[in-house]
Amino acid sequence: MNFNSIPGLTRTKNLLITGIQHNHQAHAQLFAGQPGALVLPLALAYATYLHCENKGEDACGSCAACSKSLKYIHPDTHFVFPVGNMKRSKEIKGSGDDETLKAELRKLWRNFLLEQPFGMLDDWTLFYGGEDKQAIISAEESREMIKTLALKPFESKYKVVIIWCPEFMHMAAANSILKVLEEPPPHTYFILATQASDKLLPTIVSRTQRVTIPLLTDSEITEHLVQQGIEHKRAERVAQLAEGDLGLALQLLDKEEDRHTQFFFDWMVACYLNKHATLLAMAEEYHEADRLSQQSLLQYSLAMMRETLVAKFGAYELHRITDEERKRITKFTEVMNLKKIERSVKLINDAAYHIERNGSAKMIFLDLSLHLAEIIRK
Ligand SMILES: [Zn+2]
Repeated sequence: MNFNSIPGLTRTKNLLITGIQHNHQAHAQLFAGQPGALVLPLALAYATYLHCENKGEDACGSCAACSKSLKYIHPDTHFVFPVGNMKRSKEIKGSGDDETLKAELRKLWRNFLLEQPFGMLDDWTLFYGGEDKQAIISAEESREMIKTLALKPFESKYKVVIIWCPEFMHMAAANSILKVLEEPPPHTYFILATQASDKLLPTIVSRTQRVTIPLLTDSEITEHLVQQGIEHKRAERVAQLAEGDLGLALQLLDKEEDRHTQFFFDWMVACYLNKHATLLAMAEEYHEADRLSQQSLLQYSLAMMRETLVAKFGAYELHRITDEERKRITKFTEVMNLKKIERSVKLINDAAYHIERNGSAKMIFLDLSLHLAEIIRK
């Protein structure tokens, strides 16, 4: 993670970057924000920047240090994070001896950071398969970290210790962390990244310099989603619902996509089987949705038609589709051909045009369904 990969937060980033440029960084900082604030991504970007051998306005992204930091394998960045009972985790396999478990856990942690750079604690719990939900930072975890602090940095001038969700520290862990914060080892920087600073021991808070991390604004989230290829109006709507929480915005998009997949293919089946009652019920359901959802479903339908066309030529791997979509598209290709797809695309485009102009959604959808049924059944 580098600063540029994090949307918005220009002021906060500048503050952190100039701090390092002028060598003003405190040995222990508390990156604190509300639930949804990007405290962990900023801590990761901070570590990357600190280690970078060729820093400018951001980490260079290409030096030896950056290439390790971006894969989360830099030997001078240490992570402390909450975890539940590893032996009960679904994702952690192995014979169960402690070293194997720890190695597995570190691997999972890296994968989590790579796959869900804006993930929150719930996402992490789900990721490592922790069903017990009793994630804590154990005393042992903090002892291990402290042991590594006795060593000199391996490759960088500094060591960085990122403690994520320090509010989940076991009392004994908190006490030993407190001791190192009182007398920090040389060249070591601690970042405590939290979304619940009010749950931390006051003694810990008082030994850190607080950096308040604001939530993203709606337009910062919108801009980020648009850069990811999401249509502008849809991005705006999701941003409004997410209230500054980028992780939530991404989740909402996923959920919406799932719903569309289900609806679209059920719809195509109903067309194929010419089930009028089902099509009527679906038209009513469609009518109930807000205008933006109605449009986004038609856009999704167009995308699926295109994917079906691509699948006809056996070129799946060129496209980003989910397993569920792939499964259903494969079935759908059996009843579709180039001509049918072309005609369907035209009809869906026409429907989108009428929806845009505030036609009756129910009538438009029903009319479209009957025409599609005719085409698909040929
Ligand atoms: Zn670099």
